[in-house]
Amino acid sequence: MRKRLIAFLLVLTVLPVAALPAVAAPPTQAGDVYVVQPGDTLFAIALRFDVTTADIAATNDLSNPNLIFVGQQLIIPGSKPVAEPAIVTNQDEANDTAPPSVSPKVYVVKPGDTLMAIATRFGLAATDLALANSIHNPDYIYIGQQLVIPTVGLSGVGARHPAPFSAIQLSPAPVLQGQTLVVEVTLSQPATISGDFEGRPLFFTGDDRGGWALVGIHALQDVGIYSLALRATLEDGTESVTAMNVVVGEGGYATENIQLAPGRESLLDPEIIQVEQEQMVELWSQLSPRPLWEGTFGLPLAEGRVTSPFGTRRSYNNGPVNGFHGGTDFGAGNGIPIYAPATGRVVLAKELSVRGKAVLIDHGLGVFSGYWHQSEVAVQVGQEVQRGDLLGYVGDTGLVTGAHLHWEMRIGGFAVDPMQWTQMSIP
Ligand SMILES: [Zn+2]
Repeated sequence: MRKRLIAFLLVLTVLPVAALPAVAAPPTQAGDVYVVQPGDTLFAIALRFDVTTADIAATNDLSNPNLIFVGQQLIIPGSKPVAEPAIVTNQDEANDTAPPSVSPKVYVVKPGDTLMAIATRFGLAATDLALANSIHNPDYIYIGQQLVIPTVGLSGVGARHPAPFSAIQLSPAPVLQGQTLVVEVTLSQPATISGDFEGRPLFFTGDDRGGWALVGIHALQDVGIYSLALRATLEDGTESVTAMNVVVGEGGYATENIQLAPGRESLLDPEIIQVEQEQMVELWSQLSPRPLWEGTFGLPLAEGRVTSPFGTRRSYNNGPVNGFHGGTDFGAGNGIPIYAPATGRVVLAKELSVRGKAVLIDHGLGVFSGYWHQSEVAVQVGQEVQRGDLLGYVGDTGLVTGAHLHWEMRIGGFAVDPMQWTQMSIP
């Protein structure tokens, strides 16, 4: 504790006055107090001290964990041992010959520094340094800023892996709850890649010099660091295994209550839901080995607006929160045309109890997109569709409160945010 107190005071003494936030009297338990810096999020702070955001929120009586402010003093709960930060000052950095350790280092930014230069100095990728410090704009670092020097590569950039792995890239990093994670692997010699995330197998596509796979992160997956295991099998049968950290961040989803019109409630009969769900699971658990889509997805409607985003935690008729919204809802009038956002093959086109008149498209590699509650379906099972092809028309069939399109995407059966696919090219 004494060492930590000294370390903390050292940080304060090397900070230029201008960068010092206006704070109250020095905390009595200095080592356990962290002063919020520009760009900090509660999640980043929690990661840094190996505690949970919930623990920090509880310890500091934070009613809204999204509202922390620069200069705020947060007590870091001591339930887990906090790694000793080793301070690298401008004076002693040249003599920093300490043996490799798992403790994070803190580096204080000096005049002339760039994020890239600092990253290079510590053998890191700039992306990892930015991630570890929640820096969104790499051009914006300031003199006196304390940067945590991570001991593990969070993004995988620059991390060293055994041959034949020559590069492993995870994006986005961190990946948020409900998002699609892309795992790209480059190999230095021909091999077959396989892997798993939380016990779920990954399916790679590519050639014998590398490939990519997708992971659907569950919308209710706990925020934290997870392990992704990768294996390369050489032509002679030799196996090489490595692992990556996957940082899952807060999706920031709200909670809503759905008031169902009388008469529609009966459709919530668990047996009806169950039978329909099993049909769907059977379809979207299939795996077509090749991706049919290419590049960014289009939007399924030419008009209309998002009325309920993906991921919102839901309760029905003021009941308990027992699920989340598995797709994006677009409010649009009856009869508005619905278009395919990308190439794929129709695997379902019929009326269902809960989903109403529905279309499900297989885009390959375990990726499916669904279009529920249509007034009329315009495609047939087995039909190949291209981006922009007519699928059907907006309606209010099935379990709905009004005309809208519910658009959802599944990866290996896991519901992911479809809007991410319209905003970035996956892979
Ligand atoms: Zn919906």
